[in-house]
Amino acid sequence: MTTQAEHLNEERRRCWCCDEEFPPALLVSLGAHPEVALCFDCARWIGRRARQQADLVRPGLRARVRRSVAGLRAAVISRGWHDLPVVGRILRRIDRRLP
Ligand SMILES: [Zn+2]
Repeated sequence: MTTQAEHLNEERRRCWCCDEEFPPALLVSLGAHPEVALCFDCARWIGRRARQQADLVRPGLRARVRRSVAGLRAAVISRGWHDLPVVGRILRRIDRRLP
C-alpha cells in the first residue's frame, strides 16, 4: 500500500530546461511533444527569450521598453540583489509581472 505522499513523489517529472523535479501540475508541456515539459519559471524565461528575438526583427517603442527592462533585470542579477532576504523577494515578485 502506498501513501498519498509516495504517490505524488512517483509522479514527479523533470523540467527539460533546469532539470529540477516538479509535480505534473506545475509543468507545461509542448503541444506536439507532450514528453517535453518546462516548469513555470523556465517557461517564463523561454517566453522572454522569444520576445527578445522577435524584438530584433520588429524594433519599436515596445521593444525598446523591453530591452530597458531586460537591462535593469541583468543589473539586479549581476549585483545579486534578487537573492537578498527581503528586497530580493520583492524584486522577484515585481519581475514576474514585467515583460
Ligand atoms: Zn525549469
